[in-house]
Amino acid sequence: MSQTAALSAASAGAPLEATVIERRDLRDDDIAIDIAAAGICHSDIHQVREEWGTAIFPMVPGHEIAGVVSAVGDGVTRYNVGDRVGVGCMVDSCGDCGYCKDGQEQWCVQGAVMTYNGEGYDGEPTMGGYSQQVVVSERFAVRIPDALDLDVAAPLLCAGITTYNPLKRWGAGPGTRVAVVGLGGLGHLGVKFAAALGAEVTVLSQSLAKQADGERFGATDYRATSDPSTFTDLAGSFDLILNTVSANLPFDQYLALLRPTGAMVNVGAPSEPSSFQAFSLIGGSKVLAGSNIGGIPQTQEMLDFAAAHGIAAEVERISANQVNEAYDRVVASDVRYRFVIDTATIGA
Ligand code: NAP
Ligand code: ZN
Repeated sequence: MSQTAALSAASAGAPLEATVIERRDLRDDDIAIDIAAAGICHSDIHQVREEWGTAIFPMVPGHEIAGVVSAVGDGVTRYNVGDRVGVGCMVDSCGDCGYCKDGQEQWCVQGAVMTYNGEGYDGEPTMGGYSQQVVVSERFAVRIPDALDLDVAAPLLCAGITTYNPLKRWGAGPGTRVAVVGLGGLGHLGVKFAAALGAEVTVLSQSLAKQADGERFGATDYRATSDPSTFTDLAGSFDLILNTVSANLPFDQYLALLRPTGAMVNVGAPSEPSSFQAFSLIGGSKVLAGSNIGGIPQTQEMLDFAAAHGIAAEVERISANQVNEAYDRVVASDVRYRFVIDTATIGA
């Protein structure tokens, strides 16, 4: 076992405080990573505040991890000490089921092991990336291209793959019109990826406050959802709506913005149930769908695509003692566009 500094919440809703945790000895296929940067995803807040049901405490959140390999197990073949790597939302899966074999580890029939607020197959609780070091199987690490700095790459490990995956699956590309709802951590990367894939992108935000940024990220249209004319002007416009909002939306209003057969894909994960009228789908044979992160091969594909297209997260770097305040700012939609923790400041 080795010890490492981390930020931990003692119980549901408790503030994050510096502590020391243990990481396991390297197994054959393990790598140890010196973490340089850890992104703050809204999912971290949902889980620390136990908004998604019972969670495991003490909790060290963090599933947007970027760092450098510091040691490798005897059987490691993919990475060497000094390699720049990332870890996202998963740290293990059975490796044997059809989904794992297909590189869709997030659907593993045994249950993928989440990076934190999860339990490993060894029965130990998992501890995430708000920490200075992590030990993980090389199968759940991805290579960070040299073109991407570690702090702007970290958010790609969750926010990046979560938006890239549904954009690819639902065919965002030349000749398609895509709306991204919510210009936060996921949303700003959704805009960048959709534009790089060749789609015509509209941002639907609560206000026009971030319009210049949205256009810089690649949107050609930017509308405020607080303005009722948005919903009349844009009725029947989109092939795809990517909903990244962490709270419930009035679905019927948004479904009316789809063209016939268009899809509204939800990645935002509010804690309360949602509702919609069946007729909002029936009329234009529309689709209401969801999407969950993405597998390891596609996460690598996304990072390589990002590097090739000059896509990185827009980040606000913070030190460990600013994390609790950052949580409140994310909840208040006051983030531009991802907080990233400089992990060197934990316990400093
Ligand atoms: P975020 O940075 O807080 O972004 C969410 C954005 O939604 C806000 O910036 C805001 O954008 C908008 N918004 C917030 N509250 C709203 C409200 N009441 N009404 C309308 N719009 C509102 O969060 P994030 O880290 O991007 O995560 C977004 C959601 O995705 C969270 O629920 C998270 O748990 C979930 N998530 C899901 C997956 C998955 O695999 N499906 C993966 C990661 C995260 P504007 O200011 O532009 O309106
Ligand atoms: Zn996340």
